[in-house]
Amino acid sequence: MTNNLNFKIINTDGRARNGLLHLNHGTLKTPTFMPVGTGGCVKAMLKRDLEEIGAHIILGNTFHLWMRPGIDIINHHEGLHNFIKWQKPILTDSGGFQVFSLKELCKITEEGVRFSSPINGSKLFLTPEKSIQIQSILNSDITMIFDECTPYQIGSHIINREEARSSMHLSLRWAKRSLDEFKRQENKNSMFGIVQGGIYEDLREESINGLLDIGFNGYAIGGLSVGEPKEYLHKILEFVSPKIPDNFPKYLMGVGTPEDIVNAVSNGIDMFDCVMPTRNARNGWLFTRYGNIKIKNSRYKNDTNGLDPTCACYTCRNFTRSYLHHLQITKEINSSILNTIHNLHFYLNMMKEIRESINEKKFDIWKNNFLEDRSSNSY
Ligand SMILES: [Zn+2]
Repeated sequence: MTNNLNFKIINTDGRARNGLLHLNHGTLKTPTFMPVGTGGCVKAMLKRDLEEIGAHIILGNTFHLWMRPGIDIINHHEGLHNFIKWQKPILTDSGGFQVFSLKELCKITEEGVRFSSPINGSKLFLTPEKSIQIQSILNSDITMIFDECTPYQIGSHIINREEARSSMHLSLRWAKRSLDEFKRQENKNSMFGIVQGGIYEDLREESINGLLDIGFNGYAIGGLSVGEPKEYLHKILEFVSPKIPDNFPKYLMGVGTPEDIVNAVSNGIDMFDCVMPTRNARNGWLFTRYGNIKIKNSRYKNDTNGLDPTCACYTCRNFTRSYLHHLQITKEINSSILNTIHNLHFYLNMMKEIRESINEKKFDIWKNNFLEDRSSNSY
C-alpha cells in the first residue's frame, strides 16, 4: 500500500533506536509517549498545557467519540483535529477494546460485535468496516485495525492456547477486512496492524507473519498489560519485537510504568500510550525521578520543597508539596490539573532523555542511572 507514512531510523544504540515518523499532521521523534485523550481531550490538560510540556501526538478513543458526541458532529467539523482544535498528529484505537470490556453486554461473531450502548442501551453493531469508517471520519493520522484483544483471563479462567489461537485467527481476518475498508475509504493516513496471540510465542509469531503478509505501515503489540503476570510482558516483548522488521515503527499498546517503558525501549519499541500518568495524577499518585509520591500522605503536609527538584514543569517551578497535598485533600480541581501537568511532563521528559541518550550512544548508562534513581524512593 502507498501513503504518506515515512519512518526513518536516525541512529541506534543496541536495539534502542531514534527515529522520525512523518505523519500528515507532523513529524514525531521516536521513541515517543502519546498522552491519552479519551473523549476528545486529555483530562485536566488544556491545549496550551500540552504544548508547553512538548506533546507531539495524542491518542483518541474511537468508541467514546462514536458514543458521544457522535460521528456526525465530528464530520461537521471535518475531523477530530478541527473539532478539538489540535493540529498535531492523533492516533485512534479501533474501539474494540472498550466494546469487549462490556463483557456480558457484547456478543462476538465472525461479522463483528453486537452490544448495547452504555449511554442509552440501544443495540449497536461494530465491525472492522464500521470502525475504519469512523476512524476515517475522525481523520486520525494513525488508524488502528479492528481486532479482538485477547485477554489473559476471563474470571478465574486463563485463556488457553486453543482459545488464543482462535481469537488471533479472527483478528487476522478482521485485519484484512480493516485494510480493505481503509483502501475503499481512500484514506491517506497510516494504518497499523496489531500483533495478538496472548502469552503463546508460536501464536505471536503466526500473528506477525499474517499481518506482514497483509502489509501495514507499522505494527503494534497488543494484548499485553491485560492482567497477566509481569514476567509475560518482558518475555513476549523480547520475543515479538525482533520479529517485526526494523524498518517499521513498533508500538507497545497500553504500557506502562516508567520502568516498563525504559525496558521496552531497550527492546526496540518506538511508541507508547498509557492512562497511568493522567489517571494516577488525578488520584494524587505522582512520578518523580527518585520514586513515586502519594501526595495525600501526611508526611507532605508541611513539606515546603518543590514536588521534584529535578523537574522543570510548571507545577514544580511554582508550588510546594505542602500546597499540592492541600489541593489533593480538599479535592480541588486544580489538584488534578497541576498533578497531570507534572506527570505528563515527567513521561515526556523521560522520552526526551531516552532519545538524547540514544543519540549519544549512552542509553544503557542513562537507563541504569534512571532505574537506580527511581528505585531509591528518596522522596
Ligand atoms: Zn514537575
